[in-house]
Amino acid sequence: MTRCPRCQAEIRAGQDWCLECGAAARTRLAQTPRWRVPVAAGLAVAALCGVALAFAFARLSNTDDDVRAAKAATAAQPAPAASTPAPSPFTTSTGPTGP
Ligand SMILES: [Zn+2]
Repeated sequence: MTRCPRCQAEIRAGQDWCLECGAAARTRLAQTPRWRVPVAAGLAVAALCGVALAFAFARLSNTDDDVRAAKAATAAQPAPAASTPAPSPFTTSTGPTGP
């Protein structure tokens, strides 16, 4: 005669379930013998996700730097044009004017 692991009620021979609390009287949960492979696979997937996230972050940061460089280039471009002034469309004459 055995006892229920939860409520200690008596379990008769051939009885699989406790009649008092409904617990499985003769069921034992065994740990899986091979748990390293799934855990290693999960860790590998997590590592790949981390690498991909780091790559994406670096990629976005580089494009942000490229945008800043492009803005700096466009901002620096009008400076040489301003250094060489265009000829004025108005002509100045020093000749005698008036009556
Ligand atoms: Zn029980």
